[in-house]
Amino acid sequence: MALRFYNTLTQQMEFFHPLEDNTVRMYTCGPTVYNFVHIGNFRTFTFQDILRRWLRYRGFKLKHVMNVTDVDDKIIKNAAKEHKSIDEYTSVYTRAFFEDAAKLRLQQPEHVAPATKHIQVMVEAVERLAAKGYTYTNEGSTYYRIAAFPDYGKLSHNDFGGIRSGARVDVDEYDKADARDFVLWKARRGDEPFWEAPFGEGRPGWHIECSAMAMSYLGETLDIHAGGVDLIFPHHENEIAQSEAISGKPFARFWLHAEHLHIESQKMSKSLGNFYTLRDLLGMGYHPEAIRYLLASVPYRKKLNFTFEGLKAATRSIERLRDFEVRLTSTRLAPGKNEAVTERSHEAIRMFEDALDDDLNTAEALAAIFEYVRAMNTALDEGDFQEENRWDAARVLEVFDTIFDVLKPGEGAGKMDEERSDAGDEVLSDVGIEAQIEERNRAKRSRDFARADAIRAALHDQGIVLEDTKDGVRWKRK
Ligand SMILES: [Zn+2]
Repeated sequence: MALRFYNTLTQQMEFFHPLEDNTVRMYTCGPTVYNFVHIGNFRTFTFQDILRRWLRYRGFKLKHVMNVTDVDDKIIKNAAKEHKSIDEYTSVYTRAFFEDAAKLRLQQPEHVAPATKHIQVMVEAVERLAAKGYTYTNEGSTYYRIAAFPDYGKLSHNDFGGIRSGARVDVDEYDKADARDFVLWKARRGDEPFWEAPFGEGRPGWHIECSAMAMSYLGETLDIHAGGVDLIFPHHENEIAQSEAISGKPFARFWLHAEHLHIESQKMSKSLGNFYTLRDLLGMGYHPEAIRYLLASVPYRKKLNFTFEGLKAATRSIERLRDFEVRLTSTRLAPGKNEAVTERSHEAIRMFEDALDDDLNTAEALAAIFEYVRAMNTALDEGDFQEENRWDAARVLEVFDTIFDVLKPGEGAGKMDEERSDAGDEVLSDVGIEAQIEERNRAKRSRDFARADAIRAALHDQGIVLEDTKDGVRWKRK
């Protein structure tokens, strides 16, 4: 079966191919940088990373644009409170977002577009809407008249038949049940930051930001637009209204939305005390690979129940795969090739691919890998796994890790170790460990086995496990 996605717009599973040549033009709504990004948002960003990687695995070229919302009501208010310019205020959180994303191994989109660097295209978009009669002004602000766009509601599948013409909102986020004319350009108030525009001093609304930047980078019709389900209405509905009014063409062919994340079966909220940023979880000692694994393990259209038990299970799952990888390289095997093992390896890859082609069914894809590893561990136990089968199995792990990217121990772990060392515990760096191993090798060569054993024991006490293989010593952190 070929690659297919569930399209929120048509409410159907549809086969996917890009509109033009082999390049997927994709837009995803990025972070609003008024604070550290929470783990629920990172669920959506992790889904988008898996999507990116799978499209590339399937041989497509990718042109992916993600915006960074660095001006909005909250940002202006918070910056003023701290007596900072919005740039000074947001740059801290923009940097933090990309640091967090790197720890979670999220690939950077081809274009990252901060809103404040693209004001001109937003001004032009508002002018085009005005020229076509989709706007009106009130007290210096410019609004989108949704009654002028008959398709309004087609993405969220809401019937907005009872639209109150002229009812409008100034805020970027508003009541889900209510369709209202929304602000495209907000008039300058007091000493708020502002930009010049032919229709008055002010700043862009959130919705026009995405429409204008998406079209300026990717053209009038995108292949994929993705985000969290909470963006379907009003944000994405408004993006469609703006973009299609401007171009007269479909704005995005495929709309993909990731479901919410719950913590221990509860909605994440500051008032419940279960609100976590990535930094919170790393501070509790969890590794970024385990967090990435857990976020990716539930198919994106299912609610994800994030639990600490689940994080521990994710840690164990990664450990099982890493152990298998070590076993693969370190076990002495009979020469030759067992064709049944080769065939089973090909089958594992086929099952993995079929699962991800099926609207990124990550749970099925993982199941295919774990069933395979179980079967191969049995084959190794029973001597059915031969020398040349190493490459088959290594290929399975490589395909898996191209998408899930959790096998290599991360720098994030190093960061955590630094924090721990601040607390007084001396933690060895990789270089330090390798120096110890070299020292132990020298001791062994000079037949000083007591010294070699003492080094192994000392490393063990610091959580470093050595494994002697015929290719030399391998080590890992426990
Ligand atoms: Zn957006």
